[in-house]
Amino acid sequence: MPEMNAAVLRSADPLAVESVELTEPRAGEVLIKIAACGVCHSDLHWINNFRNNSLPAGIVAPKAAILGHEVAGIVEEIGPGVTAVAPGDHVVVGFRPNCGGNCFYCINGTPWLCERPDDPDRAYTGEQPRISQDGVPIMQGVGVAGFSEYTVMPERAAIKIRNDAPLETVCLIGCAVTTGVGAVINTAKIQSGSDIAVIGMGGVGLNIVQGARLAGARKIIAIDTMDNKLDMAANFGATHFVNASEGDPVEKARGIANGYIDYAFEAIGLGATCRQAFDMVRDGGTAVVVGVVGQDITVPGRAFLREKKLIGSFYGSNSLQRDIPKLVDLYMDGKIMVDELISKRRPLNEINEAFDDMLVGEVARSVLHPSGI
Ligand SMILES: [Zn+2]
Ligand SMILES: [Zn+2]
Repeated sequence: MPEMNAAVLRSADPLAVESVELTEPRAGEVLIKIAACGVCHSDLHWINNFRNNSLPAGIVAPKAAILGHEVAGIVEEIGPGVTAVAPGDHVVVGFRPNCGGNCFYCINGTPWLCERPDDPDRAYTGEQPRISQDGVPIMQGVGVAGFSEYTVMPERAAIKIRNDAPLETVCLIGCAVTTGVGAVINTAKIQSGSDIAVIGMGGVGLNIVQGARLAGARKIIAIDTMDNKLDMAANFGATHFVNASEGDPVEKARGIANGYIDYAFEAIGLGATCRQAFDMVRDGGTAVVVGVVGQDITVPGRAFLREKKLIGSFYGSNSLQRDIPKLVDLYMDGKIMVDELISKRRPLNEINEAFDDMLVGEVARSVLHPSGI
C-alpha cells in the first residue's frame, strides 16, 4: 500500500500533514497525482460539522478525514476496466460523480441529483476506505481528499481536459466555477437582459456574477459586507454594488433595478440572506439558493400568490462530463476568468493559514499545491 502525505483532520487539533496509506485503484477507479487543490468554504463547513458531530445522516462518524475537493491533476494509474481516462491524462475531479444512468435522476437527465453516486463517502461507509493510517480508515471528506499528494476516485469523477490548460488554475473548475456559472446557466437559465442580484462575493458568488455576464444579464448587482470583495466583483462583471453593512440591502438592490429584480442568488448559506434574496426579487421572479444552508428558510406565503419562486441549485446543476471540459474551453478562450479568483498559493503544510485567510475574508481562493507538480 503506497504511502503519501496528506493534511489530516481530527476532532480537536488543527490540520496536520501526516503520512497515510492509499489503496491501489480497484475496478473502475483511478489514481490521480494532485497538482492543485482550491480551499473552499464547504471544506470549512465540513470541518465544523465534523467537530460538532453533525455530519449528514448515513455518514459513519470517522475518526479522521481528509478534506479538499477542488482538484486538478494527472492520472497516474488506472484500475481494471477503466476506459474513460488513461495514465498521463490531465483531469479535473468532480467531487460528486454520478452513476451514469442507473438511477431515476441520471436516466431523466439530471445526473447532479444522482441517487447512487459512487462517491468516496460510500467507500467509507461501505467499509472499503481508500485511505487509512495504521489500519484505521480515514474518510475522503467532501468526496475527494484533495489536500493530499494523491487520491483514488471512481473513473466517472476524473474528467479528462485538454493538456494545454494550466492545472494550477483549472482546479477551481472542480467546484467554485462550476457551481457559480452553472447556477445561472443551468439552474436558473436566465434570459439575456435580465436584472440580477448576487448576495455574497466569495469564490462561488464571483462565478455567479461572471455567469450572469456570460448569459447577457443587464444589471448585475453585487452585494457583500466588504468593499474589497465588491471591488473584485467589478472585475468579474458586476455593474452595481451594495455594501450590506450600510443599510437594508433589499431596499438598495430593489432601488437599483427600479423594483424589478428578475433573479437573486444567495451564495453564503444563511437563512437570513436567503430571505433577503426572496424579498428582493420582483413578482414572478426567482430566488436561487446556491449556498449550503443548514437552517430553515422562512418566507411569506402571500408571495406565492404573486408567483415568486424559491429554488435550490446544487453543484451548478452540472453534468460533469459535459460541463467541465466546456468551462475549461471558455477559460482558455478568455470568456471566463479563473486566475483572478486565486489570491494566494501555498504548499500543503500551510493549510491552516489558508483557512485563517478565509475566516478573515482576505482571499477569494487559496490554492494548495500538495505534490509539487
Ligand atoms: Zn466547494
Ligand atoms: Zn445516478
